[in-house]
Amino acid sequence: MSLNQSEGKLRMEKKQFQAESKRLLEMMINSIYTQKEIFLRELISNSSDAIDKIYYRALTDDNLTFNPENYYIKLSVDKENRKLTLTDTGIGMTREDLENNLGVIAKSGSLAFKKENEAKDGHDIIGQFGVGFYSAFMVADHVSVTSRALGEDQAYKWESDGADGYTIEPAEKAEVGTEIVLTIKDNTEDESYDEFLEDYRLRSIVKKYSDFIRYPIKMDSTVR
Ligand code: ADP
Ligand code: MG
Repeated sequence: MSLNQSEGKLRMEKKQFQAESKRLLEMMINSIYTQKEIFLRELISNSSDAIDKIYYRALTDDNLTFNPENYYIKLSVDKENRKLTLTDTGIGMTREDLENNLGVIAKSGSLAFKKENEAKDGHDIIGQFGVGFYSAFMVADHVSVTSRALGEDQAYKWESDGADGYTIEPAEKAEVGTEIVLTIKDNTEDESYDEFLEDYRLRSIVKKYSDFIRYPIKMDSTVR
């Protein structure tokens, strides 16, 4: 098999989530939790953590300077295509990071999930602990994460429709950092998701949960 073929095969292989991750994921997908808006808090906090990592790296790495102007989190909306995009200029993820960090249940949530456990319904679990990245699946039926890690030229794209697995393939990305695209769910009879495509609503969620974040959170115009 030529290199190209083997790379192609590797690329399209759909990987399965770990059993425990899959359970949390299914809970998110079918969530009856009313505060779905917290997905944004989770994603923004991950972006902020990722920028922190560059900041701390710069303290000890003479080749890296941290110019605050270059570090931010950005939200943009494409209503027509129901896409909400969150971009950060954080440290990014390698292919292995995408595999290891997004293929498994949130570390912080994980332990708590196991310990406090089973008997509790999704509502309690989401209320008590951050559920992390997977909370995106409360509002999105497709999530893509394109990331380029600090020091790498090649970017990778992680994609998933939810509990049936994910793919990772090489991608183009000019800047170091991460771009997460959520395809917001269609409205159902009981539930509307349109609000997550409204500027004013996103601004108010950001204000409510992410006011303390120390990097700028931009929208087409700056949120704050
Ligand atoms: P937690 O934040 O508690 O570790 P999450 O599920 O929120 O759990 O995120 C899992 C991991 O994925 C993070 O620890 C981090 O390593 C990685 N990650 C998620 N989002 C980003 C991002 N925007 N940039 C870099 N790494 C990220
Ligand atoms: Mg997190």
